[in-house]
Amino acid sequence: MSSNFHPDGTLFIVSGPSGAGKTTLIDKVQAQLKDIGIRLYFSVSHTTRAPRAGEKDGVNYHYVSPEEFSQMIERGEFLEWAHVHANRYGTSKAEVKWRLEAGQDVILDIDYQGARQIAQDPELEPRSMSVFLFPPSLEALEQRLRVRGLNTDGEIELRLRKAMDEISEGKDFYKYVIINDHLDAAAECLKATIIAKKLQTKTALEAIARMAERFKEEQQNGRITRGRG
Ligand code: ADP
Ligand code: 5GP
Repeated sequence: MSSNFHPDGTLFIVSGPSGAGKTTLIDKVQAQLKDIGIRLYFSVSHTTRAPRAGEKDGVNYHYVSPEEFSQMIERGEFLEWAHVHANRYGTSKAEVKWRLEAGQDVILDIDYQGARQIAQDPELEPRSMSVFLFPPSLEALEQRLRVRGLNTDGEIELRLRKAMDEISEGKDFYKYVIINDHLDAAAECLKATIIAKKLQTKTALEAIARMAERFKEEQQNGRITRGRG
């Protein structure tokens, strides 16, 4: 970890309509940020939807039955969960909490309902940052969904309708909005928001204060001796 960044585990949330480019951008930014000392762990969600061709259990999602999902809700195992496109999706506490406690940074690709739940959680909100990613137009979104080739016409229609809901529902609580028109430009913007959060003054100052406190204690315990000259 670069000493430029505060060591507190931070939760990064990327939301936006299906097809906006979340997966593409998260992959790109994850690789580029590693070079400057920010390692983002992608949180693998649980879902009741069936795997698509090429998707792997435990990599893209943890695929569970509706019954298993309901049991996880009952046992309070989700940090957040929501109905999305006729299925249920959720972030399990087991996937995220220990990493944050261990000072690791986690990135979530979740919808606005999940992002809102985290924004309303007094424990998680201060250590989280959310970005709403949007395509340059709904026409561009439809085009991307068609080019991606993973959804039927009916699914694409559902995703476009949901995109409109997301604009009206999400506009109040996201910290940043990024329009994913040119991929490289959008990646720079996403990196900038993440870097800014990792430099945030209050958290960074608290980290420096903790460092000073530790140094003082060690000095008092005689573990640090003054160097010569
Ligand atoms: P999401 O994860 O938000 O559903 P994806 O990352 O799967 O979206 O992107 C949807 C499709 O759009 C993919 O085929 C991807 O290659 C393409 N795409 C992503 N960003 C751009 C962009 N800036 N310009 C053109 N196509 C893009
Ligand atoms: P897809 O089925 O295309 O992979 O994902 C559909 C939508 O579900 C995306 O908008 C994605 O952000 C959202 N999603 C994925 N995982 C979660 C999750 O754990 N919680 C919530 N609330 N939404 C999720």
